[in-house]
Amino acid sequence: MPQKLIDTHAHLCDPVFDADRSLVIERARNVGVDKIVIVSENMADARRNLALARIHPELFPAAGLYPTHLDVTAADEMVAFIKKEHTRLVAIGEVGLDFWAVREPEEKEIQKQIFCRFIDLSLKLDLPLNVHSRSAGRHAVAFLLEKGAKRLQMHAFDGKFGAAMPAVEAGFFFSIPPSIVRSRQKQKLVKQLPLSCLLVETDSPVLGPNTGTRNEPVNAVVSLEMIAQIKSLQPQAVAEAVLENTRQLYGKDLF
Ligand SMILES: [Zn+2]
Repeated sequence: MPQKLIDTHAHLCDPVFDADRSLVIERARNVGVDKIVIVSENMADARRNLALARIHPELFPAAGLYPTHLDVTAADEMVAFIKKEHTRLVAIGEVGLDFWAVREPEEKEIQKQIFCRFIDLSLKLDLPLNVHSRSAGRHAVAFLLEKGAKRLQMHAFDGKFGAAMPAVEAGFFFSIPPSIVRSRQKQKLVKQLPLSCLLVETDSPVLGPNTGTRNEPVNAVVSLEMIAQIKSLQPQAVAEAVLENTRQLYGKDLF
């Protein structure tokens, strides 16, 4: 029996999966990745995720607005959608801060305002936040702490351990994508982060073990094995810990 793993961040609504989505889900299930949190970047994704979750019981939908969408009207619409559909959603995401793509101070301010609305919503609805932060690790963590955010997943965190530490102390979780096999930064981060704050994800179709190849939820196993190797632990022990962490964040009734 393979270990049981949950891919906590994937974009399975992406059209690159249209031709073979069922096979992709089956391949993942065959290695024990039998549940997948599917995040959204916009309203079309969010609607699609709900529809996909009705067809595939392995998929658990999240709704959010990708941080490079500096569109307050789109944010209003997404907030209304999440309020309306919250009982069918397992998380708000992906949302966050991206200071790599957004560099102008006024634009960063809009990005923060939109992020702020999703943080408030997460607290109000008691839903986990699935957070993207790029070149903004320290800012994102400080902002989340300032706002009193509680149920937190930092996805594919690109900062250093120093930037992550206040988040670890606050009980936030960090999800590790398969691209860790080719990222010194992520390997270093995992070495320093306690196992008790780690989750696995794939960010499919990107962040796979090889650049330029479509990533799939089956590769959550690659993340698991790399964490085990870095921490000199048995993959099974890591799988158990990661599952427990995932249940702590998302709820024991769900996973
Ligand atoms: Zn993503």
